[in-house]
Amino acid sequence: MEPKRMDSKPSPRPSPSGRGSLLEIIKDRIRQEGPMDLGTYMEMCLGHPEHGYYMTRDPFGAAGDFTTSPEVSQLFGEMIGAWLADVWMKMGSPSRFALLECGPGRGTLMADILRATKHVQGFHDAAKIYLMEMSPVLKEIQKQKLEAYNPYWIDDVTQLDSGIPVLLVANEFLDALPVRQFVKTGDDWRERRVALGRDGTLILGEFEVDGADIGMLPKESFQGIFETSLCLNQFMKSIHLLLKKQTGAALFVDYGHVKSGAGDTLQAMRNHKFVDIFETPGSCDLTAHVDFENIVCMAKEDDVAVCGPVTQSAFLKGLGIEARAERLWAGANEVQRESIISGLNRLIDTEQMGSLFKVIALTHEADLQPEGF
Ligand code: SAH
Repeated sequence: MEPKRMDSKPSPRPSPSGRGSLLEIIKDRIRQEGPMDLGTYMEMCLGHPEHGYYMTRDPFGAAGDFTTSPEVSQLFGEMIGAWLADVWMKMGSPSRFALLECGPGRGTLMADILRATKHVQGFHDAAKIYLMEMSPVLKEIQKQKLEAYNPYWIDDVTQLDSGIPVLLVANEFLDALPVRQFVKTGDDWRERRVALGRDGTLILGEFEVDGADIGMLPKESFQGIFETSLCLNQFMKSIHLLLKKQTGAALFVDYGHVKSGAGDTLQAMRNHKFVDIFETPGSCDLTAHVDFENIVCMAKEDDVAVCGPVTQSAFLKGLGIEARAERLWAGANEVQRESIISGLNRLIDTEQMGSLFKVIALTHEADLQPEGF
């Protein structure tokens, strides 16, 4: 498996694992209800109201667990801002539209988008800004950073203004949606679930598939681990409906594969290093690779137009990130110049984030033809 987010500086963190900890809560639930599917495990680790990873901390940057593209360089948000402004103009510059970010983290991407589009005539006046965020800690950080723009926070896309076009962006949001894993050996399907080992520790076991779940398994000659996210599939369906009903575009940037395949991509990261998925539940980021082929197939089924996936490198270069970096560089001092160059390289270098990350856009109609693909 390829590394997901690259960084090097570790940071100390207490490991809550005693009584009342998420580990104990999970163990109790397994004792009561039996082995837990991985989706439920992931959901609890990330979103448990009291102990969930995202609910309790700001995980980004050198002092946290991982760094994302918007945190690496302002160039990323500037390019996405230019992309959004171009789509908005191609749509005839609607006088009101929903500008939605899903999983906005520290609010850095949205802040850079809004800074980069300040001089696009009419764009700010038309944009009603929405942030879909589950973490109270991150909401607070977003509030501070984006206060001047009066954003609305939502839990679900059904809470958006229903009468206006939608432009959606999401960076590293889909990979946080819980996945389940099934494994096929010969003709036999089993589900991989979290169970208790003889010594009481969490282990991964294979269990009989519930009858209700058989319908979601691939029918053809599949062998190995099938990873699937009901949550992602439902979310994409809701975006298709939104785009068809209200018009607009959705841009997703994430770590994943262009072709569907068999394999376990669930991974845990702490202090910029990969760790075991059972390492102190709630203290590590848990993610899975996004299956872009699945996203393309679902969109086509719902008659939504698809651009990409392309690599982050191709997308950002296509939007002119190198020329923008040169302009920034020309007006910068020595220290700034170094950070502009290293940021640019990190975003587009195929050895770094340039090819691990893919970009896909969905639009209500094929004629929209957004840039970068
Ligand atoms: N886009 C940001 C942060 C990525 S991390 C960046 O690129 O820096 C994932 C983000 O999605 C976090 O803000 C996390 O709290 C949020 N998130 C994860 N699952 C979510 C869910 N089900 N609903 C809303 N937000 C979610």
